[in-house]
Amino acid sequence: MNFLMFGAPMAGKGTLANMLSEEYHLPTISMGDILRGSIARGDAEGVLAKSYMDKGEMVPNEVVCAMIKNRLAQPDVQNGFILDGFPRTPSQLEVFVKENVANIDVVVSLEVPYNTLLSRVVGRRTCKDCGYIYNTSWNLGYEKCPKCGGEWGIRSDDNEETYQNRFNVYQKETLPILDYFKNEGKVVEVEGKDAPEESYNMMIKAFKQSNIKGLKEFIEG
Ligand code: AMP
Repeated sequence: MNFLMFGAPMAGKGTLANMLSEEYHLPTISMGDILRGSIARGDAEGVLAKSYMDKGEMVPNEVVCAMIKNRLAQPDVQNGFILDGFPRTPSQLEVFVKENVANIDVVVSLEVPYNTLLSRVVGRRTCKDCGYIYNTSWNLGYEKCPKCGGEWGIRSDDNEETYQNRFNVYQKETLPILDYFKNEGKVVEVEGKDAPEESYNMMIKAFKQSNIKGLKEFIEG
């Protein structure tokens, strides 16, 4: 099964993708992580991408489309994946559909009120070694990554000023493409305002009640 996580920045796409990945042994593909990897390596694409990401703007299509096509062509994702962060604009959707970049079976649309999204921004921590996502608002007292013991990092775009722009860009450029997937009958709506376990359980419940072909069977194994 191929999943696409959809929702505003800070809605919990990466967190739920990781939980789903662990339980159902599907690889996750995060466009943001691919870009951050490129920045960390100091690639030319990464240098260019950083200048957009730090402002909360979209990285140009030539860069992201080439990267995602390359990732989706790799052998480990041929039997299912959980995609987060692509397509994110109407023109990316056009590339995705016209060039048959990948087939999507299920779109998880996470719904979270703006104030909750904003309250999550300052608390997000990401493990520098394994990418595990934690939020200090969960009050679990993790001083280091509970999975691998790595140090916490804070994303350079996780601040309230940049967030406002990321959210505006999401509403203007990303949200409209949800209609395409709704028309295809692939969207499962999930409330994402609560703690990760609660949202995850609601998501699994919604999968089991869904009419999307093969989804219930996949989840119930
Ligand atoms: P994320 O990790 O999904 O929050 O993405 C972080 C940032 O990476 C975004 O604010 C954009 O600057 C950039 N980015 C991620 N995905 C895309 C995409 N599909 N197209 C353009 N820019 C992207």
